[in-house]
Amino acid sequence: MGEKLPFVTRDQLERAAAQWPTPFHVYSEKLIRERARALKAAFSWNPGFTEYFAVKATPNPTIVSILAEEGCGCDCATATELTLANACGVRGERIMLSSNDTPDEDYRRARDLGAIINLDSLDMVDCLSRALDGRLPTMVCLRFNPGGNFTASNGIIGEPEDSKFGMTVEQVMEAARRLSAMGVTEFGLHAFLASNTQVEDYYPRLARVLFELAVRLSRDLGVHVRLVDLSGGIGIDYRPEDVPVGIAAVGEGVRRVYEEVLVPAGMGDVALAAELGRWMLAPAGGLVTRVIHEKVTYHDYLGVDACASNLMRPAVYGAYHHITVMGHEGEPATKRYNVVGRLCENSDQFARDRMLPEVHIGDLLFIHDAGAHGYSMGYNYNGTLRSAELLLREDGSFELIRRAETPADYFATLDFPGSRFSALAHPEG
Ligand SMILES: *Cc1c(COP(=O)(O)O)cnc(C)c1O
Repeated sequence: MGEKLPFVTRDQLERAAAQWPTPFHVYSEKLIRERARALKAAFSWNPGFTEYFAVKATPNPTIVSILAEEGCGCDCATATELTLANACGVRGERIMLSSNDTPDEDYRRARDLGAIINLDSLDMVDCLSRALDGRLPTMVCLRFNPGGNFTASNGIIGEPEDSKFGMTVEQVMEAARRLSAMGVTEFGLHAFLASNTQVEDYYPRLARVLFELAVRLSRDLGVHVRLVDLSGGIGIDYRPEDVPVGIAAVGEGVRRVYEEVLVPAGMGDVALAAELGRWMLAPAGGLVTRVIHEKVTYHDYLGVDACASNLMRPAVYGAYHHITVMGHEGEPATKRYNVVGRLCENSDQFARDRMLPEVHIGDLLFIHDAGAHGYSMGYNYNGTLRSAELLLREDGSFELIRRAETPADYFATLDFPGSRFSALAHPEG
């Protein structure tokens, strides 16, 4: 069982904490760049390959800009995320709108930015046409849902049948027919059938489903399929005993299916896309928190200064996040703890019955793999405030890339003309 080690040392974190108090999220520029490059290398056999980073995983402009420097685009689901992508210099077809239940104005915003629009439902064909006054982009992407269960080498890994996303095969065909009649000349196909997968054959099996559909669209309707988007869903090794997915093997697996299905059909020019969020960023970020209380009742509780507002996955999904007691890396785990936050909710526990080296008040804990779906899922329950985000630069310096919220931020939405409570957002006043 491999030991999971943080990408920072206690001394580095104490130095950062002296300037920006805990809790905070910290990201490694080095790891972000390494992962982006490894993904690019794995798909270098496909000249058009693009990773559209799923902005929702880590919507920080500094991080999105680093990824853009590495050649990544942005996968967005809302107008707000489109605005963020645009602010990071990501332009045109480097932006993908993979949304569902989409308001008209989001389509307009996507079209204005020249983004690729990925339609989630058949009725969206008419909505899109109406929203854009009939001026459709030349290229539209369609989201497929094959239904049933989705299996990989280790059994069922997803249940598309119960997923709200995507269209049936008949609906995809009908959407392509209608869009062609409206002047759309190029198509993309997209599907997201399983989340946090731990196997190397998820993408290859998904690719086969989408490639076969692409061939069918091309043969039956004579339309040009230019893009196949394998979306997100590749998982990471949250637990020490998990084996990380080998991204090179994933790329190679997809290449084999590409050569088996698309190339013989004369479709060897199809560009591939990914929309990885978790795989790209989760291991490149951690939540840093200090132990401020210990209480022993029927369990030994360590109270920390972070809570589920900073990282909700354990509370909401019972998700495992590995914890390192900084300065005690590699020491035997001899004591059993529950690591808890301050929310008035019993689910606010980062770990239950977790074996750790002996912990003392004042110790720093590093909660691993919080770089994706961590800060971004944060909320303000119990009046808790979202923490800062720091970036560990490649030269070893720290940069504040988002400040912590203050009570004024919490009260800001009460600050409007006529509000009796505006003064709450101006504590100095
Ligand atoms: C959430 C999401 C992603 C990213 O998923 P990960 O599991 O983080 O890789 C990509 N595409 C779409 C459409 C999504 O909703």
